[in-house]
Amino acid sequence: MVDIWIYVQQKDGDIEAPTFGLVSEAKRLMTELDAAGQITAVALGPADESTLSALGTYGVSRVLQVTGKQMHRYQGEIFSRALLNLAHNEEPTCLLMCQSAETEDLAQRLAALLQAALVTRAMDFSMRPDGTARAVRPVANGYLFEEVTLDSQPTPVVSFLPAVLLDTIPDRDTLAAVTTIPLPDSQDLKTRTVEVIEAAPEDLDLEEADIIVVGGRGVGKGDSFDVIHSLARAIGGSVGGTRPIIDWGYLTYDRQIGQTGKYVSPRLIINCGISGANEYTAGMEKSQQVIAIDQNPRARIFRFADLGVVGDVHQILPLLISRIEDQE
Ligand SMILES: Cc1cc2nc3c(=O)[nH]c(=O)nc-3n(C[C@H](O)[C@H](O)[C@H](O)COP(=O)(O)OP(=O)(O)OC[C@H]3O[C@@H](n4cnc5c(N)ncnc54)[C@H](O)[C@@H]3O)c2cc1C
Repeated sequence: MVDIWIYVQQKDGDIEAPTFGLVSEAKRLMTELDAAGQITAVALGPADESTLSALGTYGVSRVLQVTGKQMHRYQGEIFSRALLNLAHNEEPTCLLMCQSAETEDLAQRLAALLQAALVTRAMDFSMRPDGTARAVRPVANGYLFEEVTLDSQPTPVVSFLPAVLLDTIPDRDTLAAVTTIPLPDSQDLKTRTVEVIEAAPEDLDLEEADIIVVGGRGVGKGDSFDVIHSLARAIGGSVGGTRPIIDWGYLTYDRQIGQTGKYVSPRLIINCGISGANEYTAGMEKSQQVIAIDQNPRARIFRFADLGVVGDVHQILPLLISRIEDQE
């Protein structure tokens, strides 16, 4: 029987939106495979049973939840072993994840343990009844795409770029059965967390950040980008960029937001000198409050903005920063 597994992405006990997009992908694969089967969600950690069983209303048949003292915070060795045990016992058809800092690590560990095929940052993935599987992923920062074929045995691990996962709505009344599997504490770990060191807000991983200041091509070259760092420091935000900023080398690739970069949903995002191309907005449109500053009143970014300011970033941002600093 076809059994497609999806990995439940959680934050503070809530299921994150891309998980529901994975259910859509799983349904699509099920149709492609044209065989009877089920979708299984695998949850590691603290989400409560009612939250998990509600996945049934999206089409998930059952949830396997691994719980234990060591599951409260992501640790690669423990999480990958927990998944390995489940996958060994049940041999799912494939395991789908949503790309994040956590799954970047987890998917690689698990695929190595399973000795299975791995595709990260997938934009498309398909499996055929004859056992062939293929995927498409961007390379060279989205300037090229590669198509790969992969072995469908043992269980391939595929992590999708969040921006390609579609919004999904519940389409049935059924709840999923949740099976809880307690995980005993592991004593034989090769690595142990001894301390958790908080990052300065400016250096926070974009997926974790509450506030993000993003600079685009309109901020300009040379020292011009410093104003984005200054604003981020003044308001305790992290710094992101559009693709031109990464291409110019002012920020590293892990700071790119968009279809081929990071998917973010902070409480506040401030977009500076960004036109709002759909490849960019695909990575930030779930942000709660959006501010945009651009000199072109017709810029597409304003369609997403709760507050839009038309003007030159190099006039507006220094004024804004000095106002904020005056209030401190
Ligand atoms: C397959 C593919 C994948 C892609 N993936 C991504 C991705 O993940 N992330 C991404 O960002 N892009 C991605 N892109 C590129 C994307 O299409 C856009 O080219 C890019 O987002 C544009 O970045 P931008 O808004 O900074 O620049 P532009 O589109 O050039 O916009 C610059 C803006 O700055 C404004 N401006 C200029 N000077 C000033 C000033 N002094 N003050 C205020 N405003 C000013 C202009 O009015 C303009 O609106 C991808 C493209 C492709 C084809």
